[in-house]
Amino acid sequence: MTFDDLYQEIILDHYKHPRNFADLSGLSDVHENPTCGDSLKLAVVVSDDGVVESIRFDGSGCAISMASASMMTEQLSGKRIEEALAMVGEFIGVMRGEKDVSELERHGDIAALGGVIQFPLRIKCATLAWHAFEKSVEKDHADR
Ligand code: ZN
Repeated sequence: MTFDDLYQEIILDHYKHPRNFADLSGLSDVHENPTCGDSLKLAVVVSDDGVVESIRFDGSGCAISMASASMMTEQLSGKRIEEALAMVGEFIGVMRGEKDVSELERHGDIAALGGVIQFPLRIKCATLAWHAFEKSVEKDHADR
């Protein structure tokens, strides 16, 4: 098994067995990547003292978008909101080519998405869930 195959395995595993996947059909906010047809909903719970308690997602789309959403929920749960948003910035920065892809290596499964930057059309698939997290958190703050 080559390095690339291993990464492929990790992405497929998240795609086939998405973590924190839930029925969120009751939510109205949909995040979409129309160029690929990816669509997802996100339910983020932040505690009063600013810790991301849980992130659940629902949706459908390509393997990259769903695997990235699954990894995002695992990666950001339990972090302080500032840390979670910093991680989002780091991930999106790597996907945009503004940060070195090696930045992802210390974040476990997410490193598997590093290969996506070689396929510019798929970058929005990978960043969809991360942008959705940002928007969800900002919206919650605005509601207060
Ligand atoms: Zn996609």
